[in-house]
Amino acid sequence: DFKLAKRVTRIKPSPSTAAAARAKELKAAGRDIVDMTVGEPDFDTPDIIKQAAVAAMQAGQTKYTAVNGTLELRQAIAARMKRHTGQDYALDQITVGGGGKQIIFLAFMASIDDDDEVIIPAPYWVSYPDMVIANEGKPVIVTCPEDNGFKLTPEALEAAITPKTRWLVLNSPSNPTGAVYNEAELKALGAVLERHPHVFVLTDEIYDEIWFGEGKLVSLVEAVPALKERIFAVNGVSKSYAMTGWRLGYAVGPLVLVNAINKLQSQISSCPSSISQAAAAAALSGDQSFVAESGKAYRRRRDVAVELLNGIPGLSCKAPDGAFYLFANCSGAIGKTAPSGQKIENDLDFVLYLLDNGVAAIHGAAYGLSPYFRLSTATSEDLIREACRRIEAACAALS
Ligand code: PLP
Repeated sequence: DFKLAKRVTRIKPSPSTAAAARAKELKAAGRDIVDMTVGEPDFDTPDIIKQAAVAAMQAGQTKYTAVNGTLELRQAIAARMKRHTGQDYALDQITVGGGGKQIIFLAFMASIDDDDEVIIPAPYWVSYPDMVIANEGKPVIVTCPEDNGFKLTPEALEAAITPKTRWLVLNSPSNPTGAVYNEAELKALGAVLERHPHVFVLTDEIYDEIWFGEGKLVSLVEAVPALKERIFAVNGVSKSYAMTGWRLGYAVGPLVLVNAINKLQSQISSCPSSISQAAAAAALSGDQSFVAESGKAYRRRRDVAVELLNGIPGLSCKAPDGAFYLFANCSGAIGKTAPSGQKIENDLDFVLYLLDNGVAAIHGAAYGLSPYFRLSTATSEDLIREACRRIEAACAALS
């Protein structure tokens, strides 16, 4: 028997990747499934970005780059950080990797040892706890109920901090809830963090271009500049520029951590694709109209989906402030019985029942909060309407 390492056997595969794969498989087998699991824009990468990649290839940019990314890309990232947060970052405080996902993993790998604690507000992006566990850390899950907009309160943060706490993970706008922290909420969390100088904050800002509020979205470093030396801000081009397949993420933060990540990268991947780096530099510094246009589409889709879902007896869903997900409450369906005689005991039973009825979604338990289910709205309005029709029929058939 092949013996696997403990770091592998103690984690599970990403449930969202698995659910998306299951939906694809069923579709390939001829089943009529509306796939609402996808965590990626349905838009194509804008043409000007593709053109930048072609130009880079033709100019011979087809070789290894510096481990922490090309100068051109890091300059584009620094300029973007300045635009969005007003903060200056030195080029050596910036690093790049094969997706924001890889950078978060490396940040934990570089910073946590046996049982170091990482505070993860739930509902959370499915990967955080397993990334912490894979790196010998201990996830400390703090439940953030719907009545506070699925957001972490200063009191809950204070209560979760121990001498072993290394990180707080803050994901705003959030996957799966779309919750966005406003400036006052960030300042209140910041006040707690200022009392605990041993706690660093990993801000996952990957959805920061997709938000439906007025004015500018505020990030933690902008709201609480005093924390700048303790904030590791992760971002990427996957969601904002419909570039999931290019695998390019970036982060800015404390030099010691960035250098450690670069050391790991030098032994792991050398650098992300030179061509993707050229494309990402063009995305960050070029015309931003795609961001505005796609944002409008996500907002329309959100409005359509929220209205339809709230019209279904047993379900409820608040309009999220950002990202392209809905985290809908399905408590009214729990305890009911399907026409097959199967009882819906929890949100996993509910999404499996929806799958039988032609809609693929992901159960709330995968994100650490039940009874909910996540629908992605990174899909067309027509598909959203069809999915909601099927969900409504499925719910109506429960007794
Ligand atoms: N963070 C969150 C909250 C996400 O939802 C995702 C992707 O699903 C990522 C990070 C990683 O994105 P990527 O690795 O494509 O940059």
